[in-house]
Amino acid sequence: MDPEEFRRAGHAVVDWIADYWATLGQRPVTSQDPPGTVAAALPAGPTAHGEPVSALLADLDALVAPRLTHWQHPGFFGYFPANTSGPSVLGDLVSSGLGVQGMLWASAPACTELETVMLDWLAGLLGLPERFRSTGSGGGVIQDSASSATLVATLAALHRASGGRWREVGVDRRYRAYTSTEGHSSIEKAARIAGLGRDGVRVVAVDPGTLAMDPDALRTAIRADLAAGDVPAIVVATIGTTSTTAVDPVPQIGAICAEYGVWLHVDAAYAGAAAVCPELRWSHAGLEHADSYCFDPHKWLLTGFDCDAFWVADSADLVAALTVLPEFLRNAASDSGAVVDYRDWQVPLGRRFRALKLWFVLRWYGVEGLRAHVRSHVALADRFAARVRADDRFVLAAPHPFSLVCFRLAAGDEASAGLLEKVNATGRVFLTHTRVAGRFTLRLAIGSPLTTQAHVDDAWELIASAAG
Ligand code: PLP
Repeated sequence: MDPEEFRRAGHAVVDWIADYWATLGQRPVTSQDPPGTVAAALPAGPTAHGEPVSALLADLDALVAPRLTHWQHPGFFGYFPANTSGPSVLGDLVSSGLGVQGMLWASAPACTELETVMLDWLAGLLGLPERFRSTGSGGGVIQDSASSATLVATLAALHRASGGRWREVGVDRRYRAYTSTEGHSSIEKAARIAGLGRDGVRVVAVDPGTLAMDPDALRTAIRADLAAGDVPAIVVATIGTTSTTAVDPVPQIGAICAEYGVWLHVDAAYAGAAAVCPELRWSHAGLEHADSYCFDPHKWLLTGFDCDAFWVADSADLVAALTVLPEFLRNAASDSGAVVDYRDWQVPLGRRFRALKLWFVLRWYGVEGLRAHVRSHVALADRFAARVRADDRFVLAAPHPFSLVCFRLAAGDEASAGLLEKVNATGRVFLTHTRVAGRFTLRLAIGSPLTTQAHVDDAWELIASAAG
C-alpha cells in the first residue's frame, strides 16, 4: 500500500468509524447470535491475492459489527465502561502510523518524554501527591492494564520486602499480599504469577455497611502473619471496588502500612477518573501514604483501551526489580543515567506510543471538558438511583459515589436475575450483575460519552416495566 492508496483507504476507514458511531444507538447493544456464528462465516484461510479495503469494510458491516457487544453504545451499562473517543482514536492512529517502539529513551526519545510529561499532567489533573511527579524520585508510566500495574507493584514490593534477595534467589520466604474481600481478581493473579502461592493473598474483611476494607482486620492479619514468621510485602487498597465502587479507607490503611513497612498500592482502575473533579477528590484521601497508584484512563476518561496510568513514589525498587540489561540494549544515553528507559518499568520489553492518545484526549477536551464528562455521568447515576429509591419494588444495594448504581428487586434473587435477563434480551440496554452480601444485584454503570439523560431515563422505564 503506497501513501496515496493509504490516504484513500484511510479516509474510507475513518468514514466507516464515524458512521458506526453515528448509528450505534439504532443497533442492539449485544449480538443475539449463538457462539460460532462469526467463525463459521469466515473462509478457511486468506485469499491468494490481495483484496481492496472496500471488501474488508463490507465484511465488517456484514460479519463483524452485527456480532459485537457494542461498548460505546449509549445503552451499554455493563461491567465498567471502556470508553474511546474521536481524539483517542486519532492519537492511536498516529501511533500506529509512526510505528515506533518505546522500550528505551534511545529507541524513541519523543515517545519516552511525552509519556513522562503526560503522566505528570495527569498527576496534576487528579491532584495526586507531588511525590508521584517525575521531578522527584517518583514518576508515572503507561501500562496496558490495571492488572499489569498490580503485578509490577507486587514485584517491586517483593524486591523491597526481601531487601533485594527476591531478585537473586526468588521467593525464599512466605511473603504476603493483602486486599479486601472486594479487591479485584487481578491481585490474586499477580500474587500467583509472582510465586506467592495459594496462601499468598490474605483476604481482609470489609465493613458490612460500606463494603470498604476494615483497617482493624488488616492490622490483625498483618500481626498474625508476622507472629507466624511470614513477611507482609504489599497491601492493595481499592478506590472504587469492582462490584460496588466502595472506597477503602486509605488514610488508615496507609498508616498501618507505614507502621509495618509494607508497600501500599492503591488500585483506582475505574474511579481514579473521578479525581479530575475537585469535589470528588475526597475519594483519594490518604494517597500521600501510597507507594504506587494506578487508574485506567481507558475506563472512564475517554481514552481507548489500552491505557493504564501507573505511578510510583520512588522508582528505585521498581527499576531494580525489573531491569535486565543485555549488551544489545546498551547505549550512551542509558549509561549516562540521565534518561528514563520504560522497559524497566513494565513486564514486556517493547512498548507502543500510547502517550499520543492521552495527549490528543487531554488537549481536545481540556480540563473542563473532562470534568464535564465525569460530572454528567455522576449526575445521571444520581438521577437513576433516585428513581430506584422511590420505587418500593426495588432496593439500592450499595452507596453510589460515582457512576455505578447497584440495585435489586425486593422480591428476591430469582426475580432480580430474571429481570436482568429480560431487560438485556430487549437489545436496548446491557447491564451486568454481581453479588452484594450474597444477594443477586444488578449493576448499571454509566460511562459511554454517547449516553444522555434520555438514555438513562429509557433504561429506567424499561427496567421498571420489566419488573412487572
Ligand atoms: N481493578 C479494579 C478495581 C477493576 O475494577 C478492574 C476491572 O474492572 C481491574 C482492576 C482490572 O482492570 P484491567 O482490565 O485494566 O486490568
